[in-house]
Amino acid sequence: GVDDDATDAPPAVELDGVTKRYGDTAAVDDVSLRVREGEFFTLVGPSGCGKTTTLRLIAGFEEPSSGTVRFSGESVAGVPPEDRDVGVVFQNYALFPHMAVGENVGYGLNFADPPEGMRCNERVAELLELVDLPDAADRDPESLSGGQQQRVAMARALAPGPDLLLLDEPMSALDARLRERLRVQVRRIQSELGITTVYVTHDQEEALAISDRVAVMRGGTPEQVAPPRTVYREPSSRFVAEFVGDNNVFAGRITDLDPAESDGAARTAGVDVGGEPLRVAVGGTGDTDVAVGDRLTFCVRPEYLRIDEGESRVRATVASAEFLGETTRVTLDWGGRDLLVRTRDPLSGEVVVGFDPQDAHVIDDRTRVTDD
Ligand code: ATP
Repeated sequence: GVDDDATDAPPAVELDGVTKRYGDTAAVDDVSLRVREGEFFTLVGPSGCGKTTTLRLIAGFEEPSSGTVRFSGESVAGVPPEDRDVGVVFQNYALFPHMAVGENVGYGLNFADPPEGMRCNERVAELLELVDLPDAADRDPESLSGGQQQRVAMARALAPGPDLLLLDEPMSALDARLRERLRVQVRRIQSELGITTVYVTHDQEEALAISDRVAVMRGGTPEQVAPPRTVYREPSSRFVAEFVGDNNVFAGRITDLDPAESDGAARTAGVDVGGEPLRVAVGGTGDTDVAVGDRLTFCVRPEYLRIDEGESRVRATVASAEFLGETTRVTLDWGGRDLLVRTRDPLSGEVVVGFDPQDAHVIDDRTRVTDD
């Protein structure tokens, strides 16, 4: 893939052709990734795609079957977890119930000296301040909410001042509202410390909201590695297009094509999708090599479909609707195909919906990894 990492500094974490096998299964399959210094990097994907195993390989709880994990350019092969300078937080916060909150955080210091000139209880107070629980030192962990307990678990993981923070589904045991609040807090804590963070979640919305970059994983391999906006707007494959939020994915044959501009500007193509003529923007010169007669797969996000507007229009029938508050998510039946739209006003019966060619994104159906 494209690599724009032209800086001299080695990546904080690098996986180089890493595979982890359990018997015949490759849980992690030839993964190459670079996590930059200070970056909030998220592994997201459906259950069983290898997220947790990738994190465990970074933490040192597992060793690769082949390939190399490097921290700041140095291989960490054979280095046990306690010597990797990583802080780890799991789904089940697992605070010690018989210890007060402050003691739990202090426990994280047992294996490391507090920063120069600082006493242990000062460091604990500083960490509880950081996670926005300044008065919780004497509390019993079980008297705290799930979100508060996870923040204590973060404070404990951060106590020794690790170089790297690894978070494995830290919010998945919490209810939706609490998760939304906690993710803002986790991001704030991460930014304040500037600590390189690798985060694992199956929740694509959470991944988009919290990350600098996201690796969308499938079957043990990242399918796309890119900033949230890119993954959302320019998915590299049908899998990414459909995994990351609602999407409408279509395939059809190119019927006509604007001439290529010498400046490489985007041009539009006519595409026949099941007998319906649509227009979509295709790359300029080079990027997407297309010709009349080619099969093209493209996607349009529901929010780009508008009622009675847009250059590419289709007639469809309302099949079902879910009221979500801000918008209503409507499933239309378009000649047997599902078409998702989001609207503010209720819809019923037959409607005409359309989109502008530049709001369609062409997907290269061949699986490829782009790292940018
Ligand atoms: P989930 O979100 O369900 O936790 P995941 O994306 O984190 O999934 P992994 O837990 O990394 O996925 O597992 C990837 C694959 O490897 C799965 O098929 C899993 O069954 C398998 N696997 C993971 N750990 C082991 C193990 N210790 N022994 C055998 N198979 C394993």
